Amino acid sequence: MSIVAVTCDKCMHRIKASPFAHSREVVCPRCKASVYVPAAVASPKAAAPPSPPLRPSRRPVRVVLVDVDMPFESMVGFILKWALAAIPAAIILAVVFAAVSAAVAATIAAVISSVSPPA
Ligand SMILES: [Zn+2]
Repeated sequence: MSIVAVTCDKCMHRIKASPFAHSREVVCPRCKASVYVPAAVASPKAAAPPSPPLRPSRRPVRVVLVDVDMPFESMVGFILKWALAAIPAAIILAVVFAAVSAAVAATIAAVISSVSPPA
């Protein structure tokens, strides 16, 4: 993955495409035409047999989340809903933890009683 320079077919403007734009289309900043950025052009393995061309829209889109820009009130509402939604999960985890603890305690009690029977 490296920065690839592609040339716009329409206006011949040189575009530097980030690694995230590989195998996708970018918009030319000068003429707004869509330019396809091939994958790994700078790679020496480009001489290998080419992979079958895929439509750019069919490729999985990689999403990089760098910031969340939302109003404060909706963020508070989102966090409240999140906390409410976590309650059933906490109950389920508590039940599972109690069952595992009871099983472990019963096993330990059985081992202790078999090792040292009451006199
Ligand atoms: Zn262009």
